[in-house]
Amino acid sequence: MPDNETRQPESEAETLVRGSCLCGAVRYQMQPPYRFFQYCHCSRCRKRCGSAFAANILIDADRFSYTEGQNLVNRYEVPGARHFSTCFCGQCGASLPWHTKDGLRVLVPAGTLDSDPFAGPERNIYWGSRASWYEHTDQLPCFDTLPGRS
Ligand SMILES: [Zn+2]
Ligand SMILES: [Zn+2]
Repeated sequence: MPDNETRQPESEAETLVRGSCLCGAVRYQMQPPYRFFQYCHCSRCRKRCGSAFAANILIDADRFSYTEGQNLVNRYEVPGARHFSTCFCGQCGASLPWHTKDGLRVLVPAGTLDSDPFAGPERNIYWGSRASWYEHTDQLPCFDTLPGRS
């Protein structure tokens, strides 16, 4: 979304960002700011989303809470993954936010948002792993793996 179309929030309450799964049984809310908002082209994210890349928001865990249906949230740990995990709704299978293994942060799939996040993606990561059929259409910087590595 272009910056000039981003609505400026007026208060803390107004910046509350909400999201849900496909069937709506699981709902969550969070309070910006975020650690990052980025597109990830890694193969795990592509599998998790069934799409060319994942739109991922990372937020501190104390800024995030499930408000409905937390009992339906299933977690899958990829064998051998240091950081990556995934959560999904047991009823509709949609991707859902998941807590990092240390419990300090939450990775939120931006496609599950129901309201404006008051921020936009900053970059592409794992660009070197992108799908061969993906046509690059944004102007964001691309990092072959992670920023700071080549
Ligand atoms: Zn669901
Ligand atoms: Zn990824």
